[in-house]
Amino acid sequence: MNAIAETAVIKQHLIDPEICIRCNTCEAICPVQAITHDNLNYVVDASKCNLCMDCISPCPTGSIDNWRSMPRIRAYSIEEQLKWEELPAELPPEELEGLVDADPEAAVAPTPAAPPAVVKDPSGQETFNSSAFGATLPPWSAAHAYSNIYGPKATQKTVTATVVGNVRVTEVGKTAGSDYDTHHIVLDFGAMPFPVLEGQSIGVVPPGVDDIGRKHHPRQYSIASPRNGERPGYNNLSLTIKRVLQDHDGDPVRGVASNYMCDLQVGDKVEVIGPFGTSFLMPNHPRSNIVMICTGTGSAPMRAMTEWRRRLRASGKFEGGKLMLFFGARTQEELPYFGPLQSLPKDFIDINFAFSRTPGQPKRYVQDAMRERAADLAQLVQDPNTFFYVCGLKSMEEGVVLALRDVVQGAGLNWDTVGGALKREGRLHLETY
Ligand SMILES: Cc1cc2nc3c(=O)[nH]c(=O)nc-3n(C[C@H](O)[C@H](O)[C@H](O)COP(=O)(O)OP(=O)(O)OC[C@H]3O[C@@H](n4cnc5c(N)ncnc54)[C@H](O)[C@@H]3O)c2cc1C
Ligand code: SF4
Ligand code: SF4
Repeated sequence: MNAIAETAVIKQHLIDPEICIRCNTCEAICPVQAITHDNLNYVVDASKCNLCMDCISPCPTGSIDNWRSMPRIRAYSIEEQLKWEELPAELPPEELEGLVDADPEAAVAPTPAAPPAVVKDPSGQETFNSSAFGATLPPWSAAHAYSNIYGPKATQKTVTATVVGNVRVTEVGKTAGSDYDTHHIVLDFGAMPFPVLEGQSIGVVPPGVDDIGRKHHPRQYSIASPRNGERPGYNNLSLTIKRVLQDHDGDPVRGVASNYMCDLQVGDKVEVIGPFGTSFLMPNHPRSNIVMICTGTGSAPMRAMTEWRRRLRASGKFEGGKLMLFFGARTQEELPYFGPLQSLPKDFIDINFAFSRTPGQPKRYVQDAMRERAADLAQLVQDPNTFFYVCGLKSMEEGVVLALRDVVQGAGLNWDTVGGALKREGRLHLETY
């Protein structure tokens, strides 16, 4: 191959549709908006991707880390990729060379996309990109997490778990005929290894096929129990799953995996992949503080961390730091685990609720509760032993990170410096969906 032809070949960045669990992490993180998706696939736009690699380590499955040598002008288009059921093989060298030689226009070096322009909104202000502050590294003292033990590219594709518990954890849903609710589901892995840490998630593979006859893709659920199990000594874990009965636009829909899981009976079997996640992990060193900010089922990893710290405290062998929780829901009746949370000792966890639809009361969101506690948060954020976790609906992320920024600035500190350190030191973790 001659030198000119060589420059015309790019390493095209592609996502493996067989492994991707459609978690949206890569799309949220890509600084140049090169990643997009439809109902089927997540795909990378070759004309925008500048190979910055920001998306590689946060992807929980590794499906993002795929590359194909392609003549630049024959790069797979977004439209082509959206139809894929599997990745195409590498082109044989002769074919690659032939394609380049046949096309004189291809003899142009690939130009990386321009660095991201600062996005301005009509008010003239810069758009705040909350995900830019999310850490991709775990806290320095986190335990080692195992991931992808089961999955399409692992030796064993799935592991079968048995449902050993399934109870509603919201007040809503108790009315006859109402199935708008959230369930606490316990899965047992029997003799199969499934080591997990608080903050990790699993993938559930719903049975059956989608409307184009393709096997349903796995859905991701955060683990709600601590590392030694929902029931210590057993090889089990719990999940907090809300039925999806409306899509993001409010139109009626029956979400495939959430309804499948909420309807399972004790004794039923479920196919699982994972575990996933190597950065949304809790610190393990004594006197480390944890600030948890969540809405709805975003409480799952927070329950896991709180319960692990509660077990450590009960053992008397570990001196934990402060635990602070900001927990939002539309109403108290929709808040999972409301009852059990009330029974935790006040000197163990500092709980702040925010309800946005309580009749007769002004709307209150987690960021409002955070602003009320600005003095305490300002102290915590300056302590390198404090770690922040945000989990819940995508729509909460920006408000929460902006509230944290305001807390920092209100304390006379520079947000760019503090926000940069939170990211670099694995101290601010965002998991929204
Ligand atoms: C990292 C991560 C952790 C997650 N942890 C949890 C968890 O602990 N508990 C939990 O319940 N879910 C969690 N989810 C969401 C979960 O993976 C599924 O997306 C959710 O259960 C819907 O799946 P489904 O198969 O029921 O709906 P689908 O059949 O996939 O979707 C049906 C329709 O509803 C829309 N939709 C999907 N999710 C929602 C939603 N939440 N609200 C409104 N519309 C929606 C879809 O866009 C689609 O139009 C997590 C997601 C991620 C990425
Ligand atoms: S490598 Fe960088 S530019 Fe390309 S898709 Fe990933 S995050 Fe976006
Ligand atoms: S699994 Fe990886 S490639 Fe798929 S959406 Fe999530 S981050 Fe992106």
